[in-house]
Amino acid sequence: MQLIDHYAAQLQSLKQQGNLRQFTQFHQQGRQIEIVGRSMLNLASNDYLGLAADEKLREAFFDQTPTSERVMSSSSSRLLTGNFAAYEHFEYSLSQAFHGRAALLFNSGYHMNIGILPAISDGRTIILADKLVHASMIDGIRLSSAKYIRFRHNDMLHLQQLLKRYQDDGNFDRIIVVTESIFSMDGDETDLSQLVQLKRQHNKVMLYVDEAHAIGVRGAKGLGCAEQYQVIDDIDFLVGTFGKALASVGGYLICHPVLRDYLINHMRPLIFSTAQPPICMAWTQFIFEHMQQLQQSRQHLQVLSQFLQQQLHNKDYFCPSTSHIVPVIIGDSKDTVERAKQLQQIGFYVMPVRPPTVPQQSSRLRISLNAMIYQQDLEQLLKYL
Ligand SMILES: *Cc1c(COP(=O)(O)O)cnc(C)c1O
Repeated sequence: MQLIDHYAAQLQSLKQQGNLRQFTQFHQQGRQIEIVGRSMLNLASNDYLGLAADEKLREAFFDQTPTSERVMSSSSSRLLTGNFAAYEHFEYSLSQAFHGRAALLFNSGYHMNIGILPAISDGRTIILADKLVHASMIDGIRLSSAKYIRFRHNDMLHLQQLLKRYQDDGNFDRIIVVTESIFSMDGDETDLSQLVQLKRQHNKVMLYVDEAHAIGVRGAKGLGCAEQYQVIDDIDFLVGTFGKALASVGGYLICHPVLRDYLINHMRPLIFSTAQPPICMAWTQFIFEHMQQLQQSRQHLQVLSQFLQQQLHNKDYFCPSTSHIVPVIIGDSKDTVERAKQLQQIGFYVMPVRPPTVPQQSSRLRISLNAMIYQQDLEQLLKYL
């Protein structure tokens, strides 16, 4: 048997289960997405505010950015020669927006999560992570030397029991609670106020909250659920990414200045990887400032989201979502793929999400809404659900 046959057999088995993943080539224009000649309404985008699709915004950015500032590579890690002014400027803006707390930038949200968690933990750390946290946090935890327990999804009572047990365990100096504010697959939310309440009752606890799906979307200035629920100053590691609503790429951390300095000394993906091109930094900052003024888009997105959630409830779908990420849970993978295909044929680009991204038998159509969509679009879609 050839060595390659082993891998071919694995692929074959994925295909049989309806779980084979493949790249598709497509073209995006505004709210539409075009695949092999068919144009569909894009209901799978992370461009929640429509900023990535906005060509005028891109033009405005290039108009105000002289060629001397359009630097396409940093050629090095920030600790060597890659620390261009664009980084420091943007960190300063972030810091200003987030109540003067320290800010640190990363090449991506994935880098951020796989880098911070191992850096801040050791054998005397226990990490308690929500059962449904994103793969990047799971990978970060696996790379760390911390002990690790997952609590039942969004179950604050379970978390409280674990905190009680480990608070008095002499083997541990610190407990890091890891969760998301809006969850990627169910679109439901962590009760951040309650989480902060729990932290106040346990002096070993630090909170790590990923706002990947909330930055830009929640809070009056779009700073995330932490702004919305007024807990910006209470979360030790407030992280998020620029790859979704912020129409760019990269990750950020809002934290105590000591933690920022500590990470600069200990975080391997920060130390050993070339920093993002300065032009990306300038663009992300441009978007970050623009985004803070988009209350109307945020309001529209919320109205749309509530409409879709309500309509799905009326149709007896189980819908855990309280956000713009709205899953329609079907169960079986093949059925889900079939339903997605049908919707695509009538002009709605909806993606099926299958194991291992979600638990077995919870395959779903993952509808992710954005501010370019109208209620009439959803009314059309609902006729077919
Ligand atoms: C998308 C996502 C990430 C990864 O961020 P990238 O910038 O795309 O690498 C991390 N955490 C969560 C919760 C995400 O949804």
